[in-house]
Amino acid sequence: MDLKEYIADIPDFPEPGVLFRDVTPLLADKDAYKEAIRLLVDFAKEKDVDVIAGPEARGFLFGCPVATELNCGFVPVRKPGKLPRKVVTKSYDLEYGSNEIQMHSDSIQPGQNVLIVDDLLATGGTVQATVSLIEQMGGNVVGIAFLIELEALKGRKLLTGYDVYSVLKY
Ligand code: 5GP
Repeated sequence: MDLKEYIADIPDFPEPGVLFRDVTPLLADKDAYKEAIRLLVDFAKEKDVDVIAGPEARGFLFGCPVATELNCGFVPVRKPGKLPRKVVTKSYDLEYGSNEIQMHSDSIQPGQNVLIVDDLLATGGTVQATVSLIEQMGGNVVGIAFLIELEALKGRKLLTGYDVYSVLKY
């Protein structure tokens, strides 16, 4: 099954000059979604993962099914103002603009093995900030998995030393 057939290329979204890779056709197809999760689980299952962390919002759509398959928990990485308890915060750069992410400050226990899952690696800013928060809380990042990697944006360069996997490369 060629999963790229389920990714829609949207020019000039969310702003001129950006080619947005839309994963919603893949999510809407039961076989394509299942196959994408199976490939992410195959990467993750050898890693002794205690918990999965996924950035809002599409990281939830891929991270949560992987967590239930691996029989581990899921921790959300959110935009500011969404989490109700004490948080840790990190600023990061996006492919377009900049932002901050937050996690509950007790969401990762020291020594826990954490797998990060997101839909897409672009410049790497989001996931680098996520790594930084997890490590600040004492977690070990044992792997980082994406559905899609935009290789031209070289996000992997920010993730040297980590085990990075992507299902689809563009
Ligand atoms: P980065 O921080 O690596 O530059 O951007 C990755 C983050 O932005 C991911 O959380 C991802 O959801 C979102 N993102 C950036 N570009 C795209 C895109 O073309 N398609 C999708 N689906 N998400 C994108």
